[in-house]
Amino acid sequence: MRSYRKELWFNVPTRRAFINITNQVEECLRESKIREGLCLVNAMHITASVFINDDESGLHHDYETWLEKLAPHEPVSQYRHNATGEDNGDAHLKRQVMGREVVVAVTDGGLDFGTWERIFYGEFDGRRKKRVLVKIIGE
Ligand code: ZN
Repeated sequence: MRSYRKELWFNVPTRRAFINITNQVEECLRESKIREGLCLVNAMHITASVFINDDESGLHHDYETWLEKLAPHEPVSQYRHNATGEDNGDAHLKRQVMGREVVVAVTDGGLDFGTWERIFYGEFDGRRKKRVLVKIIGE
């Protein structure tokens, strides 16, 4: 069995953003030379997500609106977590809703996606360097 590991780095200039990382994950898969197996992609921070959905700007706007209704950033004093001196209580909750990781089947050297599926990095507390892990196993 072959095993491949790579960290992708992001430094998002805004507090929140959704970034399509599908091409970067496909590049990892090419580098791995794995043709059949599984590809795990996970955020390595507890205020960021990796998820799969449609690359459609209206949907991303809807996510932003929905997440701000569920866990508004302001007022930061509403979160017990922020009593530690942080201001990212909302980001932890948003990450929980959007998920930590995705696993995609690798078939015939490609990511075996469903219709319109793409992989996204969801940033909820940006403006600093953060990592995503890509781990691919198979043969
Ligand atoms: Zn925090």
